[in-house]
Amino acid sequence: MNILEADYIYIEGEYVSHKAIAFDNKIRTIDTKEKLLELYPNAILHSTPPNSVIYPGFINTHVHLEFSSNQTTLSYGSFVPWLGSVMANTSKTSSCDDSTMQEACKEMLTSGITAFGAISSHGIDLDVCTQTPQRVVYFNEIVGSNSNIVDINYDSFERRIKLSQKYTSDFFIPAVAVHSAYSTHEILVKKAISYAKENQLLLSAHLLESHSEREWLTTASGEFYNFYKKFLGVEKPANTLYEFIKAFDDIPTHFIHCVQATKEELDMLAAKGHSIAHCPRSNRMLGCGRLSIENVKAPLSVATDGLSSNWSLNIIGELRAALMMHYDIPLHELSLQLINCITSVPAEILGLNCGMIASGRLADMCVITLPDKPTSLKEIALWTILHTHKATKVYIGGKQYV
Ligand SMILES: [Zn+2]
Repeated sequence: MNILEADYIYIEGEYVSHKAIAFDNKIRTIDTKEKLLELYPNAILHSTPPNSVIYPGFINTHVHLEFSSNQTTLSYGSFVPWLGSVMANTSKTSSCDDSTMQEACKEMLTSGITAFGAISSHGIDLDVCTQTPQRVVYFNEIVGSNSNIVDINYDSFERRIKLSQKYTSDFFIPAVAVHSAYSTHEILVKKAISYAKENQLLLSAHLLESHSEREWLTTASGEFYNFYKKFLGVEKPANTLYEFIKAFDDIPTHFIHCVQATKEELDMLAAKGHSIAHCPRSNRMLGCGRLSIENVKAPLSVATDGLSSNWSLNIIGELRAALMMHYDIPLHELSLQLINCITSVPAEILGLNCGMIASGRLADMCVITLPDKPTSLKEIALWTILHTHKATKVYIGGKQYV
């Protein structure tokens, strides 16, 4: 048994002081250090620097490890030109090596991320994701709007997902990702959803990321019209917006971005039991706009997206960006909400038994040390987001990695 003590612990949305946590691979008991030492006299005591806070390990629900290199290759500022630059540089952007992806995992780990959802487009991140200390929900992606090669694209997906399923464990959970409504043929969408249902796998899809996507899916015009005509000789979208959303009606799905969804559409997603990932820095860099998080009733996570549309996978930095982006929401209320968007809520979204400091939960925890003594417990969420950058200690399944 181990005992971790710190000045503060984040428990059920509040910061409590004078408590400690007894844990092995799971959190067993939360009480004062003295009581825990009586209960477990042989426990190893882990102390922390003054002004430290124990949080549940942070969770990043959406990242693309395979696109971790070539930071100065892509064109930022507007979505369709960015997508064009990704496609024009496919050979460069899809040749990311293991050490670059391991660095990306390490950056996440040192910022306190103990679990992440990796979108795998090619399967080249499989070794890294099965070997990284974090828990990984591994979303095998299906993509391809060309009706002539539906079978080829499905075979590629099936080969990758079947291989990934061989590695299933408490630390590696295979799942399914549909790339998006504009890029995935309706037959592939249906087949991928069926596969997820039959195998009881989690499902994710990018949705309504940019204004151009909305225009293309609803009116078959705009920037995407020229893009598809030029690259694929196509003049009609692969799906209409509502047909696409409806295809996911009876399987709760983690939709990514949804920046351009209307209030009614956001309500519809919530009513169907879906969840949403909010990636503020990616949305800013690709000129997609601001997700009205004040209108989101569905479970909401904050995620970094990949390094192809971000400069860092540091999750605390992502919260800082969200804090600035949503300038109309009261500061302290938003800070607490954002902490929950990387702990309890994403744990629920990804079906992981972590994300909370509570007896019986997995001992996935990170320690964040504030630069000074907080004058009020109510301010700690804000101070954490404003003044910290790295975790002082990180535990996954009770084992210490930082
Ligand atoms: Zn993405």
